[in-house]
Amino acid sequence: MSYKLFIPGPIAVSEKTLRAMSQPMIGHRSTDFVALYNSMQAELQAIAGTKDPVYLATSSAWGVMEGSLRNVVKKKVLNCMNGAFSDKWYDVSLRCGKAATALKSEWGQPVDPEAIRRELATGAYDAITLIHNETSCGCMSDLAAIMRVIREFPEVIAIVDTVTSLSAMPINKDELGIDVLVSGSQKAFALPPGLAFLSVSAKALARAATMPDRGYYCDYVEFQKNHEAGMTPSTPAISLFYALRSKLDDITAEGLTQRYARHQRLNRTVRDFVSGHGFKLFPKDGYGSVTLNCFANTQNVDLSALNKILKTKHQLVIDGGYGKLKGKTFRISNMGDETDASIQVMLTSLAAALAETPRLTTT
Ligand SMILES: *Cc1c(COP(=O)(O)O)cnc(C)c1O
Repeated sequence: MSYKLFIPGPIAVSEKTLRAMSQPMIGHRSTDFVALYNSMQAELQAIAGTKDPVYLATSSAWGVMEGSLRNVVKKKVLNCMNGAFSDKWYDVSLRCGKAATALKSEWGQPVDPEAIRRELATGAYDAITLIHNETSCGCMSDLAAIMRVIREFPEVIAIVDTVTSLSAMPINKDELGIDVLVSGSQKAFALPPGLAFLSVSAKALARAATMPDRGYYCDYVEFQKNHEAGMTPSTPAISLFYALRSKLDDITAEGLTQRYARHQRLNRTVRDFVSGHGFKLFPKDGYGSVTLNCFANTQNVDLSALNKILKTKHQLVIDGGYGKLKGKTFRISNMGDETDASIQVMLTSLAAALAETPRLTTT
């Protein structure tokens, strides 16, 4: 049975991308691979707004999120938390044996720049982690305001997760002063899972070079050395490189400005439509994500029944809430290749399915 994903990752992958992946293997030390690798750098750098290389890691985003802690946290890391992924990053810091502080906001509340300033001003930190777009609750923090505060502390390396924002909206890594930018393949880029993006400033690379226990698989220094030869440290997921090459062609053909505008427009279409059905956006006003909408289940809809109807009658699925928000919220992605037409089809299906979905009685 086939159905289309409107969950916020992994998301639907186009036939074109899937076809690109079925090309024959090439050696990862061959001139063909070097040409493929090098051909993607300029477009990736434009998307990330950086002159630094964009390394391509064969792992999910967590591979480079964890690896980055191991590369730059010597003293202590401040983990900004406002949802499931950012909460997890604090846990991962501890699992890596790092000294870490949890800077907590409620899920759905943006990360507070002033709280960051107060913490960093103690001088205890040499790194900070931040999730730009908290996918679990559809909350997008004010990256520019936060980076302005972090840049008052030059000793602090900023590791920023842009897994569900990079390529969907302008993110200028160099201008913002982001030291380490990480992202993944299966969300905003509409690729299959398995590839992570990592762009590291000279300052972060220099820090990494002094870290004794940074390991091998995500060693920035290894990535840089191999990057200079147009390669990756270990055998990469070459099929995903083909997929990325194809996707970058799509992005270039559409144009970044048009791509950003499309995401904003489709996001607004979904938000207006679902709000019109009596649901309220879950995150704080003004901090809704541009790549997904997370709605509070204010109508007490039986979300698992809703998704069953959507899947069997309309061949699509949305998300019924992440972690502790399961059943309390639902999320709809507008990432990747969605169009006005495909979003309309989804919304028409959603309205029909909602009309026949039972409401849960509150006890
Ligand atoms: C999905 C997601 C991750 C984790 O990505 P994996 O590819 O599963 O490792 C991290 N951060 C954000 C914001 C995400 O949405």
